[in-house]
Amino acid sequence: MSKYEIIDHAYDVIVVGAGGAGLRATLGMVAAGFRTACISKVYPTRSHTVAAQGGIGAALGNLDGDNWRFHMYDTVKGSDWLGDQDAIEYMCRNAIDAVIELEHFGVPFSRTPEGKIYQRPFGGHTLDFGKSMARRACAAADRTGHAILHTLYQQCLKHKAEFFSEYIALDLLNDAEGGVGGVMAWCLEDGAIHRFRAQMVVFATGGYGRAYFSCTSAHTCTGDGGAMALRAGIPLQDMEFIQFHPTGIYGSGCLITEGARGEGGYVTNSEGERFMERYAPTAKDLASRDVVSRSMAIEIREGRGVGPNKDHIHLHLEHIDPKVLAERLPGISETAKIFAGVDVTKEPIPILPTVHYNMGGIPTNYHGEVIRPKGSDKDAIVPGLMAVGEAACVSVHGANRLGTNSLLDLVVFGRAAALRAAATYKPGATLKALPADAHEPALERFDRIRNAGGKTLTADIRLEMQHTMQNNCAVFRTGKVLSEGKQLIEKAAASMSDLKVVDKSLVWNSDLVEALELDNLMAQAVVTMHSAEARHESRGAHAHEDHPNRDDVNWMKHTLAYRDAAGKVSLDYRPVHMYTLTDETEVIPPKERVY
Ligand SMILES: Cc1cc2nc3c(=O)[nH]c(=O)nc-3n(C[C@H](O)[C@H](O)[C@H](O)COP(=O)(O)OP(=O)(O)OC[C@H]3O[C@@H](n4cnc5c(N)ncnc54)[C@H](O)[C@@H]3O)c2cc1C
Repeated sequence: MSKYEIIDHAYDVIVVGAGGAGLRATLGMVAAGFRTACISKVYPTRSHTVAAQGGIGAALGNLDGDNWRFHMYDTVKGSDWLGDQDAIEYMCRNAIDAVIELEHFGVPFSRTPEGKIYQRPFGGHTLDFGKSMARRACAAADRTGHAILHTLYQQCLKHKAEFFSEYIALDLLNDAEGGVGGVMAWCLEDGAIHRFRAQMVVFATGGYGRAYFSCTSAHTCTGDGGAMALRAGIPLQDMEFIQFHPTGIYGSGCLITEGARGEGGYVTNSEGERFMERYAPTAKDLASRDVVSRSMAIEIREGRGVGPNKDHIHLHLEHIDPKVLAERLPGISETAKIFAGVDVTKEPIPILPTVHYNMGGIPTNYHGEVIRPKGSDKDAIVPGLMAVGEAACVSVHGANRLGTNSLLDLVVFGRAAALRAAATYKPGATLKALPADAHEPALERFDRIRNAGGKTLTADIRLEMQHTMQNNCAVFRTGKVLSEGKQLIEKAAASMSDLKVVDKSLVWNSDLVEALELDNLMAQAVVTMHSAEARHESRGAHAHEDHPNRDDVNWMKHTLAYRDAAGKVSLDYRPVHMYTLTDETEVIPPKERVY
């Protein structure tokens, strides 16, 4: 029996996470009449969504003849044909209403002279199925995520959603039939343990960028939801697809938005050459992120990097009118000054591809319902569990996400989850009974980590994991590097048995928080490496030098990675959805991906 006292709560819906996805889901659930609590380990407006810069994609066509079918085509092509086309259709079609809805909620978008929402070009966004560049990224200067997150939070408060801020969700409460009936959490402020029972739990816990040494994401991006899912026997999908953003600031990894290239910025090598013209003759600097990151890596590898060590690339904005920089890119002008000491009106910014986004995550259908394949039913759902946002894998991003499609994913599928809940659950319905000891596994793990009495500090194990991921699961991969990576990451995971947690207290114990987060990161680092090692082709962000081509015959399928209680990983696969939802558009057949 657990030695912790437990405080009980009962709701219709528990949303874990208060980023854009969690807040949009919370808002929709409350509006549908569900008693909803949103749990967040940080104050809602500190979620990583606040850092999103460049924009949210929607074919409004305010500045050109854009159409949601072009958006769908670009997204399927960007995904390198690994995205599910039913879900992509759903997202691109609903994008227009989603952005107008955000405008009506109060998001202060930048404006065109006529007062319409301002839209800028972004990587891989085109008109007429690839013929010319589109203007699709709806932007609030270069602080779009900030504007959206604050607006959604205000809307949630207006609709009287209940928040539990600075509570860390520990693990799911499983029912006896393979479904979910709630979640356990630890309150940082007073150290109390809480049991939240509900008809439905929605994971909106964000990505796990911090499994890598250099990333653009916040320190809180530790993929807690993904790890909780793994511990509940749910697989994670397509984890080998990690997006490297071409323009992280060299050294700090801070992001310079792709919007900088959308406003006319370009990259050069040590010879001052605009090399993207060679790799992507049409889209040039605005090719997809995986393409630009690989091109930069090749330039550096072939000795044309800039700087004394020839190990990075330059991003130029100094030719852009300073008035435009001040109006459209004020945030990154400041970031470049602080983190690179560069005045963007005068000199180039030193940049390097940096881990930015996780295409993989908890598998769901386009309603946000979590999938756990059962026998031959590869799309069977887990009753009582949904996942939305970067924590989820719908899959609309497939093997490579297009810029602006994540903010879009958050609001479209946050809303879809609430619509689905309204169609399948009843506000105020009796909660299903849970086994009396349903909370025990969560508290056993919590207690074990809290009392970890080994010799190695969290920071040391974390560093080993981060270096392994950075070195062995990067922009370019080979069979040898990945199989070595598998051994190294398993070794790092094994060293968790020697973890030392110094502070045993329950109140504001950041030592324990970081240890719990490391445990979550490690599980995902391990399945990422296994999934990458097994995929013998190159697709999107997974560039395998021993298998340089895409292999649609053998590999046009989603990876599913399981990790059992003993830490053993097993892999399975499910087919890509090559069908649309309606006949207002057609399936986009695979072809070569050139920009
Ligand atoms: C610097 C940067 C710039 C970006 N710019 C853009 C852009 O311009 N356009 C675009 O489309 N995308 C952009 N992206 C990507 C996009 O912002 C993210 O993918 C997206 O914001 C993730 O939102 P989310 O709601 O899924 O998670 P997050 O915003 O990361 O929120 C996660 C939430 O989960 C909570 N949480 C996590 N674990 C727990 C736990 N154990 N217990 C309780 N709560 C927990 C956190 O407290 C937080 O509230 C950018 C990303 C970065 C890093």
